[in-house]
Amino acid sequence: MLNKWIFTERQTRLVEKAARINETAALHAGKADEEASFSDEVLKKIKEEKYPSLPLFPEFGGEELSLYEFLLMQEEIAKGDGAVALSIGWHVGVMMELKDERPWEEATLRHIMDEVGRKQKVLNRLASEPATGSPTRGGMPETIARRKGDGYIINGRKTFASLADHLDYYIVSTYVEDLDTVGWFLVEKDTPGVSVEKTWDTLGMRGTESDDLLMKDVEVDSSSLVETKTSKPAGPKGWLLHIPACYLGIAVAARNEAVQFAKNFQPNSLDTPISEVPHIQDKIGTMEWKLLQAHSFLYNTARKWDEYPERRDEWQEELGAVKLAVTNTAQEVVDLAMRISGGRGLSRQQPFEKYYRDVRAGLHNPPMDDAVITMLAKKV
Ligand SMILES: Cc1cc2nc3c(=O)[nH]c(=O)nc-3n(C[C@H](O)[C@H](O)[C@H](O)COP(=O)(O)OP(=O)(O)OC[C@H]3O[C@@H](n4cnc5c(N)ncnc54)[C@H](O)[C@@H]3O)c2cc1C
Repeated sequence: MLNKWIFTERQTRLVEKAARINETAALHAGKADEEASFSDEVLKKIKEEKYPSLPLFPEFGGEELSLYEFLLMQEEIAKGDGAVALSIGWHVGVMMELKDERPWEEATLRHIMDEVGRKQKVLNRLASEPATGSPTRGGMPETIARRKGDGYIINGRKTFASLADHLDYYIVSTYVEDLDTVGWFLVEKDTPGVSVEKTWDTLGMRGTESDDLLMKDVEVDSSSLVETKTSKPAGPKGWLLHIPACYLGIAVAARNEAVQFAKNFQPNSLDTPISEVPHIQDKIGTMEWKLLQAHSFLYNTARKWDEYPERRDEWQEELGAVKLAVTNTAQEVVDLAMRISGGRGLSRQQPFEKYYRDVRAGLHNPPMDDAVITMLAKKV
């Protein structure tokens, strides 16, 4: 587990925790990928390691995980299965956000933190919909919350609901009719009218189980409306760097496999393994500098985020640039690994084709490349 970005005993211990999740994730990755579902055994392991509550304060079973530590753990888990890292990364990121920004009523916040701390319950924000697409584009949700007495009735469909059937709570974005604004409701899984439709059948990240969530006449009380959109623009969200950390983990795993393959494969046309051949060395060296660059950008930005919280408002553009740079670099690295493995890399018996499919999904997690470029251009 040599990792040049680990410097402290605490980081070592946390990454060891992630490595244990990684091992279980790797064992179940094939089946999860085949069935497009999240493994019960992996979620059990994640809970045993208390990953869901790690960002919280100790009174809720947490260790106040820093962003830097979160990314180290995400990268480590993704080496075992990127789909596991991405799925649980949404939950851990939300917990980090709730702890740092405290955007909900204190009583609701404490209730959820208690649920996560004591029972390791998991939740996720569900914002994507068929018509609005990515919520980052600002479209109005078609999921609607209509006033009824003291509460609301919610109707709608959410797409890309990672961890769908394995979640205990959903945080769903809606159009709140009586307030004429976008609001987020905290909905418990077992609420009547809530169901998961098995729609997830994608090229990559199949194990994220990102099915559709359906809400049909779901009755909730007013206290479930935990957030409404305010006129204040949302501040930078450092925790979203769990996304590039995940894709970087996939790229590192692909690099490791490619190097192993190159050292062990000696066709009968050569006197040495292919690792000695100039064009293979060129590819290995190229993967290496790309990974060095991606790690530096990701972890140095996270370090600044942790060390200078009072300056976080300055880093919106940089966070976007990190996501853009690291996820695109991860794709390039996986592509190079595939070239080293040759035609064998296309086989389902080899790990490369899954890395290739999974890493592609990074393009479609927020923020999208074009939005980052536009944001950077406007800032100049
Ligand atoms: C593996 C995975 C897991 C995910 N998990 C979750 C989750 O847990 N919760 C969740 O809410 N979402 C999740 N998502 C969904 C994700 O956040 C996006 O909503 C989804 O990928 C759709 O994004 P899109 O850009 O393809 O869609 P769209 O926004 O529909 O875009 C489609 C095309 O139109 C263009 N386009 C659309 N609107 C505009 C615009 N206004 N300006 C310019 N171009 C535009 C886009 O660039 C793109 O080319 C997940 C996605 C993936 C791939």
